[in-house]
Amino acid sequence: MLKKTEILLVDDREENLIALEKILSSLDATFIKTMSGDEALAATLEHEFALALVDIQMPGMDGFELVQILQEDEKTRLLPVIFVSAIYKNDYYQIKGIETGAVDFITKPIIPEILLGKVSVFLELYDQRKRIENIAKEKEKLNIELIEKNKELEQIIYVISHDLRSPLVNIQGFSRELDTDMSSILSILSADTITPEDREILFSLINADIPESLKYIFSSINKMDMLLTGLLKLSRLGQKALEIKEIDMNSLIAGVAEDFEFQIKEENIELNIGHLPSCKGDLTQINQVMSNLLDNAIKYLDPGRRGIINIYGRAENAHSVYCVEDNGIGIDDKDKKIIFEIFHRLHPHDSQGQGLGLNIIGKILERHSGKIWVESRLGTGSKFFISLPGSKK
Ligand code: ADP
Repeated sequence: MLKKTEILLVDDREENLIALEKILSSLDATFIKTMSGDEALAATLEHEFALALVDIQMPGMDGFELVQILQEDEKTRLLPVIFVSAIYKNDYYQIKGIETGAVDFITKPIIPEILLGKVSVFLELYDQRKRIENIAKEKEKLNIELIEKNKELEQIIYVISHDLRSPLVNIQGFSRELDTDMSSILSILSADTITPEDREILFSLINADIPESLKYIFSSINKMDMLLTGLLKLSRLGQKALEIKEIDMNSLIAGVAEDFEFQIKEENIELNIGHLPSCKGDLTQINQVMSNLLDNAIKYLDPGRRGIINIYGRAENAHSVYCVEDNGIGIDDKDKKIIFEIFHRLHPHDSQGQGLGLNIIGKILERHSGKIWVESRLGTGSKFFISLPGSKK
């Protein structure tokens, strides 16, 4: 909601303050009435004024001194001021140090129409300045978003050129080998007689060399397929509309844990689930988040000790925070950032994975105005935290 425009009135005589307020009462503004320079300065700490109407002759700090102080302060430097005084116009030029900001004056007795006219002009200027400031802020926000998106695109280009290239090089190499094998087979078969040694060679080519090349070709194709499917998944994520509902995390986690039951039993993992607060989110996507976190907690357990995974949560102000904790291999401090980047894996040759899970989780949470962060020690275990909007207002 837009805040009402606030105008500061400074005059040591209450009847003058009341008169000013009355003249300006037709404006859609709130008037903060103060009776001395000190009171006025205190009011600027709590309010953001569009304009100040300042009486010049006041006991103690006079109007000129007050405005000088206001103009030295970063917060009130640009505050427009209208001096209200019985003294003559020329005295205005004696004000020292008032070079910046908009300053005007009105002499007493006040002609209401003139005061209203002046004040309206200043308020209009203030509105315009606010609008320009808002546009600048919005522009800055968009710029930051653009830089982020650009970084992401660069990463994707890196992946396409690097990660997709290595399986491609494999396919090229092994296809060439297949080609050579075919030529050998053809030359043996086109001879008039086939000796037992030839037969041996043929057998070894068809039974060992060719299947081996094919095996590498197939696994490279699979890898490419996985990477492309991942990219597609990622690009679709941003297009799907969110269906935000209250989520009972206890039943969501129970369902996720059930999906991993076979593995948990097979690997004798101890899984402890605490009572979880509910939250607001898209059920399918939050399910994916928790499923990925549990999947990782299981995948990156330390084979040297019994796996223990704890899932717990708490309500914190307007958020619900959840943690998936494991006693697995842990993550080095230097790697804590890059694991959230697309296709980054710390141990690319171990276990299954595309290095996409945490990136997708990050994106899902971003769309939910949530967050993910990790606390971890190499060799000890990891705690992945996520925060989501809570279900209570
Ligand atoms: P993936 O598991 O498919 O490789 P993720 O994006 O889910 O991809 O994770 C990226 C990397 O972060 C993993 O390859 C792994 O090195 C590290 N990681 C993720 N979760 C954990 C965990 N619970 N313990 C240790 N390392 C982890």
